[in-house]
Amino acid sequence: MATKPVYSLVLPIFNEQAVLPLLFHRLDQVLADLDGPAEVILVDDGSTDCTSIILEARAKTDPRYRFIGLSRNFGQQLAMTAGLDAAAGDAVILMDADLQDPPEIIHQMIEKWREGYEIVYARRATRAGESRFKLATSKLFYKTMSRLASVEIPQNVGDFRLVDRKALEVFRSMREQDRFVRGMFAWVGFRQIAIEFNREERAAGETKWPVGKLVKLAVNGLVSFSDAPLKLALWLGTLVSGTAIVYGLYVIVSRLFTENYVPGWASTIVVVAFLGGANMMLTGILGLYIGRIHNEVKRRPLYIVGKTAGFAGAEMLPAGNEIEERRRRAG
Ligand code: UDP
Ligand code: MG
Repeated sequence: MATKPVYSLVLPIFNEQAVLPLLFHRLDQVLADLDGPAEVILVDDGSTDCTSIILEARAKTDPRYRFIGLSRNFGQQLAMTAGLDAAAGDAVILMDADLQDPPEIIHQMIEKWREGYEIVYARRATRAGESRFKLATSKLFYKTMSRLASVEIPQNVGDFRLVDRKALEVFRSMREQDRFVRGMFAWVGFRQIAIEFNREERAAGETKWPVGKLVKLAVNGLVSFSDAPLKLALWLGTLVSGTAIVYGLYVIVSRLFTENYVPGWASTIVVVAFLGGANMMLTGILGLYIGRIHNEVKRRPLYIVGKTAGFAGAEMLPAGNEIEERRRRAG
């Protein structure tokens, strides 16, 4: 296929063999209705089931599909990044592979894009098949984020979105290690607009986002886009030591000018313990940020491509590994 695609669909995929037949069926229908040539970039995030074999076979037989196999499981955020790096279209659509993001919505996104919006994100009006707990914690997270984060990150919006080439190029220049992709797109700016959709239940298989991973993503989002925890540390430290000073004065005054002082080492212990606790917490918060600096300083590639298929020429290859790309840029 020599024609340059207008649309690129990017899908991070991890152990999804059960939904793939249905996914291809739905995608084929959507692709047939598009008004320009399109490519679908299937990123296999180190699946351990038959996913990668199915994806690669698809890319080898259907010229609209491309396959990128990462060398191991890098997580959804990095799998998306790998796909976005390889996308050649003027408009790039990012979506989940489990059909929770219905591909048919793409038509509405494209309409908005044609009107001139650089980023069209899909807001979940309803979310079927997700636990109360997940809905409640997600709501709490977005509330906190909107209060603390330095950029407005839209609520109830996942990664399902259309991004214009212009915004994508900016995103591609952002090579931070700890990624919160939707926050990064919010940061990019340009004209952004939401369209509403009803998030469906997973077509098959089960969620790859256990609570632990979700917490990690939430902390990532918070720490990457806000220095509020650092400020909290400062305020808390000030408050605690302020209280300690006042209490100290009280102790000294009652020792010097009154008879009824108690040689209470108990209270001393309480204060010391309290200060120790506060100190530890503050150090912990500092550690959180220093850990990220450490992670950035190593300058490792964000992901490693193990295998590709379906890319036309060498220039369409997702630059092998990122190291290669850096070398090319430098030279
Ligand atoms: N995914 C991935 N790598 C991972 C976990 C998930 O590429 O380590 C993909 C997964 O295959 C799916 C998308 O990311 O296409 C969203 O994952 P999932 O549906 O499990 O998350 P949920 O919708 O439950 O938040
Ligand atoms: Mg899902």
